[in-house]
Amino acid sequence: MQPVLLWLRRDLRLADNPALTRALDTGQPVIPVYLHAPEEEAPWFPGAASRWWLHHSLNALSCALTAAGSRLILRQGGSLECLLQLLDETGAGQVIWNRTYEPALIQRDRRIKAALKDRGVRVESCNSALLFEPWTVSNKSGEPYRVFTPFWKACCAKGLPDDVATLPESITAPAHWPVSDDLKQWALLPRISWDQGLAQRWQPGEAGAHHALERFLAHGVLTYKTGRDLPGQPGTSRLSPHLHFGEIGPRQLIRACQRLQQQGIGTEGSTSVAAFIREIGWREFAFHLLFHFPQTPEHPLDQRFEHFPWRKPEDYADDLAAWQHGLTGIPLVDAGMRELWHTGWMHNRVRMITASLLVKNLGIPWQEGARWFWDTLVDADLASNTLGWQWTAGCGADAAPYFRVFNPVLQGERFDGQGAYIRHWVPELEHLPDRYLHAPWTAPASLIPPAYPRPRVDLGASRKTALAAWEQLKEHSRLSPGGSVP
Ligand SMILES: Cc1cc2nc3c(=O)[nH]c(=O)nc-3n(C[C@H](O)[C@H](O)[C@H](O)COP(=O)(O)OP(=O)(O)OC[C@H]3O[C@@H](n4cnc5c(N)ncnc54)[C@H](O)[C@@H]3O)c2cc1C
Repeated sequence: MQPVLLWLRRDLRLADNPALTRALDTGQPVIPVYLHAPEEEAPWFPGAASRWWLHHSLNALSCALTAAGSRLILRQGGSLECLLQLLDETGAGQVIWNRTYEPALIQRDRRIKAALKDRGVRVESCNSALLFEPWTVSNKSGEPYRVFTPFWKACCAKGLPDDVATLPESITAPAHWPVSDDLKQWALLPRISWDQGLAQRWQPGEAGAHHALERFLAHGVLTYKTGRDLPGQPGTSRLSPHLHFGEIGPRQLIRACQRLQQQGIGTEGSTSVAAFIREIGWREFAFHLLFHFPQTPEHPLDQRFEHFPWRKPEDYADDLAAWQHGLTGIPLVDAGMRELWHTGWMHNRVRMITASLLVKNLGIPWQEGARWFWDTLVDADLASNTLGWQWTAGCGADAAPYFRVFNPVLQGERFDGQGAYIRHWVPELEHLPDRYLHAPWTAPASLIPPAYPRPRVDLGASRKTALAAWEQLKEHSRLSPGGSVP
């Protein structure tokens, strides 16, 4: 029987995988393939932490497929060329995949779809990654949303989908398997081993995603509303890398939340579950924005910010390096940047605070921070990273207003009062009394640990400078037309 090629991409799972379901529905043998073509993602080539995750996720997927009587075929090279080669080798007449939404990949997929159809190959694509694909939600004028609350209201009014395809028991194998690359030859893992922290923290793959979900359902979701703001506690799901690689999908999360809500979980539980679902909504919003405003990974949505007087690379290089390595002398920021370096992940509140310090206090363009996060986050995601950075810089859709500058000292006192998070990641400050912990420079000289740097920036003075620059920008945009209002 003629087999079907199942082209796996950001959907590295077997359960609730619509493309797999479609392939099985054909009744034909299925050949699952993963193609490694990082240059097709240019200029956003996968970063080092993403490559680490991908290696382990593909390993896990390969084992799961083998257990289901199938295999994962790996090939490296241009995706179209690889697919044509595989069609030729296997005699398959159909390719099925789940859609991706990054601008470069949308263009690539369009080209491939057209080329395959031209050759008489049947092509089908499905949605595994989103509750609502970006073109299915628009405001009354048919325009994309730029503000989260009405966007999410419109989504909720449609009804949140929770239909989940079940895990297939087995996958029909072809009579002959094509050869596969050896994953190790792709060299996705770092040559110098800096990845022990990642290995300790994460279990990439579908089983790891479900363990993380089970843990969160048992210990986090019912107190999420308050717990999500405390970086020293495991109050969030840590599902972001699993969601990025499609090891679990948002419909599965909605289903799990709805089941919980039916169990009578009380008011706090209910509001917490609703708050968690709303965060899934922010992920949807990020994809909506990236699809409709594909220039935003590099350019501010609010065009006035193209003229913002950022410092020059030659002036900020040392400050950028200090920020990247958690040596700014601002404890909460350094704790976050070190958490990122060691684990490939950072708590959401601390992402906002570290980003705000970079952009507003250090005057460094948000694109520099976005690039660093891109390389170091295991959940690096073009849509969510772009939204997060533009939101913090105040230049995106529904962004924090520019004049909102996070104060890392006050934020630390409020959300890490006992200093558990700071003491864990910045051990130099372990013995500093609580009252100085968030601003060590205010402690008597004898108490300041010599190994910890003095702050690189005066928070108050730099805030004033940032606000003055913003006033200047507003003045400039009043004089020059074309600036959009967020
Ligand atoms: C500067 C900055 C950069 C960011 N870069 C990324 C990124 O590259 N990849 C990424 O997945 N998230 C990014 N975020 C969003 C957010 O910080 C992470 O999604 C979240 O911390 C992941 O942890 P969690 O899975 O425990 O989240 P939970 O609190 O458990 O939330 C559940 C899920 O909802 C989604 N979500 C939650 N908050 C947001 C948000 N603000 N925006 C979009 N989706 C959200 C994520 O998919 C997350 O896994 C960024 C935020 C900021 C401020």
